Amino acid sequence: MANHVLFESDHHRNLLIEDFGSGSMVQANQHLIIDKGRAMILDPGGHKIYSKVLSQTTSEVGTGKLEYIFLSHQDPDIVAAINGWLMTTDATAIAPSLWMRFIPHFGLDDLVASRLRPIDDDGCIMTLGGSELMILPAHFLHSCGNFQVYDATSKILYSGDLGASIGIDYLEVADFDAHIPKMQGFHQRYMTSNAAMRAWARMVESLEIEIIAPQHGAYFRGTMVKRFIDWCASLQCGLDLMSDVYQLPTRRATPS
Ligand code: FE
Repeated sequence: MANHVLFESDHHRNLLIEDFGSGSMVQANQHLIIDKGRAMILDPGGHKIYSKVLSQTTSEVGTGKLEYIFLSHQDPDIVAAINGWLMTTDATAIAPSLWMRFIPHFGLDDLVASRLRPIDDDGCIMTLGGSELMILPAHFLHSCGNFQVYDATSKILYSGDLGASIGIDYLEVADFDAHIPKMQGFHQRYMTSNAAMRAWARMVESLEIEIIAPQHGAYFRGTMVKRFIDWCASLQCGLDLMSDVYQLPTRRATPS
């Protein structure tokens, strides 16, 4: 199956790798940024898709080098196969500093543990090949230690779980209003609060963004980008909706 090219110039490519998830697993996108033969894979995923994503990555990178594995946060659909990635490549994995002591619980071999490096809370600007990538703080959206990647060359913002949509069969959002029901429930429950959403919207306002590409579901391009940012800024979610949930339960039931 062909991968989807989100951006291409003579030295820079942004690829969306086909979803290999199936069954009960949440659908997930894997993204690859390649500049002058140097590559970064974003949120590579868990064990069931590991070998296929690795072989796709290897063939796309060709004679170049996988330099970085970006882990936006600690969830299993992002991190679970990290030991395999570090054992079979000599890439450096980067992840929020908050999760440095937790990620090894996914079975990180001592041989490769030193190639897992922390990103401090305030993010950073990295070099990939000859291009710059901004590692943006996106904490509490949803994980309390969470980053996004902005690629200034392609003008793509990789937004991780923010922008995720569930149960769809299209890659790009064409009708924003029709798309809202596919993402609203997820954001209302997984995102922390409107305060975090608004702060994020303010931060990304100054960026020139052509595409917002989440880790699950369809991406937003062109006019859909601003619609999505505005939607985030106005969404009541998380604690805005659930502040009264902290009450002792009265219902007797076994999860079934
Ligand atoms: Fe997550």
